[in-house]
Amino acid sequence: MAGAMLAAGWRSVKGHPFRAPASGAAAYNGTRAGEDRARIWPCRNNEFARASTQEDTMRHGLTGPKRRPPQQPLNPTRPAGARERYPGARCSAIAGRAVRVPTWPRWLGPLVVAQVLLWAPAGAMERVTVQRQGGRLVVEGRLVTEAADGGLLLLARDGALWAIQPDELVRRESTDVPFQPLDRDELAELLLKELPAGFRVRRTAHYLICHNTSPAYAHWCGSLFERLYMAFTNYWSRRGFELKKPEFPLVAIVFSDQRSYVNYAQRELGKAAASTIGCYSLRTNRMAMYDLTGRGSRLAVRSPAQINRMLSGAEAFRTVATVVHEATHQIAFNCGLHQRYSDCPLWFSEGIAIYFETPDLTSPRGWRSVGQVNHQRLARLHRYLPRRPADSLQRLITSDDRFRDTSQALDAYAEAWGLTHFLLSHHARQYVAYLERLAQKPPAVMDDPATRLREFQEAFGRDLRKLDEEFLRYVARLR
Ligand SMILES: [Zn+2]
Repeated sequence: MAGAMLAAGWRSVKGHPFRAPASGAAAYNGTRAGEDRARIWPCRNNEFARASTQEDTMRHGLTGPKRRPPQQPLNPTRPAGARERYPGARCSAIAGRAVRVPTWPRWLGPLVVAQVLLWAPAGAMERVTVQRQGGRLVVEGRLVTEAADGGLLLLARDGALWAIQPDELVRRESTDVPFQPLDRDELAELLLKELPAGFRVRRTAHYLICHNTSPAYAHWCGSLFERLYMAFTNYWSRRGFELKKPEFPLVAIVFSDQRSYVNYAQRELGKAAASTIGCYSLRTNRMAMYDLTGRGSRLAVRSPAQINRMLSGAEAFRTVATVVHEATHQIAFNCGLHQRYSDCPLWFSEGIAIYFETPDLTSPRGWRSVGQVNHQRLARLHRYLPRRPADSLQRLITSDDRFRDTSQALDAYAEAWGLTHFLLSHHARQYVAYLERLAQKPPAVMDDPATRLREFQEAFGRDLRKLDEEFLRYVARLR
């Protein structure tokens, strides 16, 4: 992370000054650990230790026996054939060239491999003291799931997911204080403390736009995202799927220039960050991007309409589509279309993001481009068809491997878009039923290919070959 951001990551909690470490590659945050003195600890990937200013008012005590929700089968063993990888990888793309990048830390793996014993969808706050990299930190949040080996997946008050390994766990307290996400002001304050000096926060109905670019560009981003949000929620509502309101404010971090963005994004994406335009992290729940006009904060005054004109060229249009794509992921994962900690086939989540990614820069209210033919993806799909193997559809829906293989990813994205377009056009009712089924998936349980296939067939019919033929006829007619 950039030195400036690293320095800004230090803050005081209740009068305990923190000092920057002599060395360190990541950003840091700190808080108090119970009665411990304030101390410095390095947090991986700048995770938040969300302890709070309400610390003194919290009551402590163990909660009652662990319960699982009604209808939720206990899952004492890992399902046969379940994969050992959490589906945390989300796409990022540049100028239409999709790049698969991991956004989930490797250290989540052991938690997911372990057996899932408990599912706690709501309830009281947990306070967990974690020993990590030579220091201690406290994380407050809602327990998402607990592994048989004692590992925890915790949803913190700022919306970040924490995977805590058993050997990191120092103390765990279950309180009777209801889980309460940070409100907009609290989260904005937290973000400004983490980000370098010069950042400001623009608030819209659903977003906190943290930026150090021009106010006009931040305004433009907020307007773009809000219009997308409206279009997205209206679209699914019309099809009988009611989205829920986001539990957390939706955070977008907009850097004035690409270099600053890359410095930030490489914590999640590694070297791949340099070839991306924006990203959404399942772990932090934030989007990050940079000013696509290339003017950044140097441009003191520029109206949103002028920015629209600047970004309406063919090349710029595709970069805006990439940002919209990531914003669609964020909305989908925050409004109940997908779950951040559950299995969701990549063809499904990517198909939806591409379905919505074509930006509508002209309409101040609506978003008329939802479901428009994505000509770039269609052209790719048409080029793929002559060499498309007979089991292409089955491989797409049962495995994410094609998306993870750079030699196949673009074809997989194109086919995912085509399949989504086809199903929403010809099998919308079944698609929504399938969507509802996926949205109910328990956390941290990865379906095996057989389960994915069975559930797809139960939604769209057992005759996959017939459906595939119908799909190909549909694609051939698309222009
Ligand atoms: Zn994507």
